[in-house]
Order: sequence, then C-alpha cells, then structure tokens
Amino acid sequence: MTRNGGTVGGSLSGLMSGLVLRLLKYSVHVLDRSSPETLQSQAAGLRAGPELHSFIETYVKDFDPNYALAPDTLEIVKKSGEGALLEEDDGLVKAVYDTEVKVEDLKRQGDKMGVLYRNLKTNEVEMLEADLVIGADGAHSLVRKVVSKDNIQPRYAECVSWRGRVPEHDVTPETREAMQNRCVIMRVEGGYMVSYYVPSDLIGETSDSKEFVWTWYDTVPGDSPHFIEIVTDVNGNKHSSTVPRGKVQPKVWQSVLDRRDTISNSRFLALLQHTAEPFVSAVHELPGTQSVYEDGKVLLVGDAFSLCKPHAGGSTSQAAFQATMLRNMLEEKIGLNEWQQACTGSASKDIERSLGAAKFFFGGEMPDFVKAMVVRAR
Ligand SMILES: Cc1cc2nc3c(=O)[nH]c(=O)nc-3n(C[C@H](O)[C@H](O)[C@H](O)COP(=O)(O)OP(=O)(O)OC[C@H]3O[C@@H](n4cnc5c(N)ncnc54)[C@H](O)[C@@H]3O)c2cc1C
Repeated sequence: MTRNGGTVGGSLSGLMSGLVLRLLKYSVHVLDRSSPETLQSQAAGLRAGPELHSFIETYVKDFDPNYALAPDTLEIVKKSGEGALLEEDDGLVKAVYDTEVKVEDLKRQGDKMGVLYRNLKTNEVEMLEADLVIGADGAHSLVRKVVSKDNIQPRYAECVSWRGRVPEHDVTPETREAMQNRCVIMRVEGGYMVSYYVPSDLIGETSDSKEFVWTWYDTVPGDSPHFIEIVTDVNGNKHSSTVPRGKVQPKVWQSVLDRRDTISNSRFLALLQHTAEPFVSAVHELPGTQSVYEDGKVLLVGDAFSLCKPHAGGSTSQAAFQATMLRNMLEEKIGLNEWQQACTGSASKDIERSLGAAKFFFGGEMPDFVKAMVVRAR
C-alpha cells in the first residue's frame, strides 16, 4: 500500500526530504505558503558543502553540472518555478508541489496525521492525511510550534545580512576582473562582506550568464530603533526574518549606501551601488535538540529543526545529511533515536564551525578551515 508523506515547506530541506520519500515510493504532497515567484532563488549565494553535492548526485536525475561554479559556491539555477524536481512523472508514484497553501494546524488521527492547510488563493481549508509529516517550514516553523510542548523560538543573533545581486556586465571591467571566479570576503567594522560569483537566473540573461551575489553581515542590536526600521518594509509591515527584494524602505537602503567609510573598498561599493533590489534578513539561531515527534509521525528537518548563524555556510549540507539519514531510517537501517542523534550531532558540528568562522569574520582570529576557504583579495 502506498504511504502518504506530507512535507510542510517546499524550500531546500523540504525538497530534499521529498526526493527521498519519492524514491522510497511514498506519495508525496509538498505544501508551501509562498508564491512561485518568492520560491525562486533568493540570491543567497549559498555555499554548497560535500554532503549537498553528494545528495544532488544521488537524488537528482540529470542534474545540471553547472549548478555550482566552484567547490565553495552555489546558486540555485532552477528557472521554471514550481517544483519540477518532484513533479516529474515516472508513472510510479504521485508527487505534488502546491504553492500558496499555508499549513495552519496538525492533528493526530490514530495512525495518521491530519495536516490542515488553507489555500491562500481561494481561502478554502483542506486536509491532507499523512503517514509521515516532514516539518521543513523554516526557522519560525509552525509544525514545531504545534508538536513541541515548549514554545521553542529562534533567537535574533544581533546581526542582519544585507544582500543583493548584480549582473557581471553591470560593473566596470576592472571590478569584474577583480571579483570574478572568486569568493571574496572582506572584514569591515562590526561585520564582514562576502561576494560570490555565481550562475545567473535573472530573466533575460543567457544560460551562461554570471552575476555577483553579495552579503554584508552587519551587527545591529535587536533593541535599537534602527533594527525596527530595517525589518519594517516599504508598506509598514514588520518581518520576522527577511524583508524581500523590492520591499526594503528606500531611506533604509540609502542609509546603507551612505556608509562609504565603513564599506571602504571600491569594488564592494560598486556592487552595492549597482544592486537594483537589495533585501535584508535578520539572522537568527536555534540549536536543534529534538527532531522526532508524535512517535515518529512528525519529523523536523532543516532550519525548522536547527538553525545556526550562516557564517560557515553549512545549513544546506546539514539538511542534505538529515535527508540522507532519513532514507536509512525509513529503510530501517537505523532507528528513530539514532536518526535524531545523528541530526543533533550534525547540527552541533555546524554550530561549532559557524562559531569558529564568526571568530575570524567578526574578531580576526582565523580557524584553519576558514584559511582553506579564503582567497586573499588581489
Ligand atoms: C544571509 C544568509 C546566508 C546563508 N548562506 C548559506 C550558505 O552559504 N550555505 C548554506 O548551506 N546555508 C546558508 N544559509 C542558510 C540556508 O539559507 C537555510 O539553511 C535554508 O534556506 C533552510 O532551508 P529550509 O528548507 O530548512 O527552510 P526555508 O528555506 O526557510 O524554507 C521554509 C519554507 O517553508 C514555507 N513555510 C513556512 N511556514 C509555512 C506554513 N505554515 N505552511 C506552508 N509553508 C510554510 C516557506 O514559504 C518556505 O518556503 C544562509 C542563510 C542566510 C539568512
């Protein structure tokens, strides 16, 4: 009999777990509240670790070998939008990826879990009956809130990350030459900036177009009026994590551009000045301790399970590791407890690496593994 897998959240960790379930012949239903436009690459300039490469090679059929440009950089290149990875029909099992559906509650129903979700286009509420629910709904997970007895919430890490993307042809040949094919990191007062050179998925660009994606980790106290201003968008809405592209208040962005003395480097300054739609995220952290709930009928993965500051760029690798171990668990090679232990072990390693990276990026003390990643700016 086909088992039903409901995945709440269709971003990186939801998709990875969904691919594993699909391979194990589950009927998979992914529910994501966001629109297809929002689910496009967020220009995060992800670092892809070995666990992620190995996951892609194992689970993604005919993957595009150019999905990452260099061993240490990743840009998501999927152009078409809605969940093509899962929806490919092999005639064996059903896989559905629904967007603009928001999960509102979970209910235990004997051996199954009922997942109640609202279709945001019609406002109708429906229920999915699942043998297994994967909670992959990110840092502010509703699944975690419903199933855990404690009200576990991520903590703001006193740091925001300004982000943006610039097509490589928009900058001068000098800047292009200095920044291309490299991941450049520059420490600045109160934080650091990173520039990645990645495949472009901007509309109108050709398949071999490249762009620069930059991030500026910037210390901002959570109790300051400036923080409230930053996370409040152009329409006056306050965001818990990310103020999306096109929604950052112009005066807030102008105050960033005005910090020329802090940015100091003309190449980074050029990237910021050529950014059409900057966006900003409040960085959060939450060390994961429990990933198994409801006797194994609800599992937390990705940022819903454990969230660490992104300084070592290991979160996606951690989600890939969790998905790989999920397969072992569902094939009964390991038990639920072992799966949970593996998840917590990997999450603590990720936190350790991130703390090590932060020590250097914020304080100048360089751990060995960062030395191996960094190429000195020319
Ligand atoms: C500035 C920054 C830089 C980073 N750099 C790196 C890096 O270099 N390398 C790396 O590996 N990681 C990096 N990360 C971390 C990485 O982006 C996250 O770990 C990853 O996005 C988490 O994926 P996820 O699927 O667990 O959660 P998310 O990407 O947060 O996805 C959660 C999904 O759930 C959906 N959802 C939420 N609630 C509901 C609901 N109630 N109903 C239905 N759907 C819902 C949302 O719409 C969303 O699509 C970075 C993060 C930040 C902020």
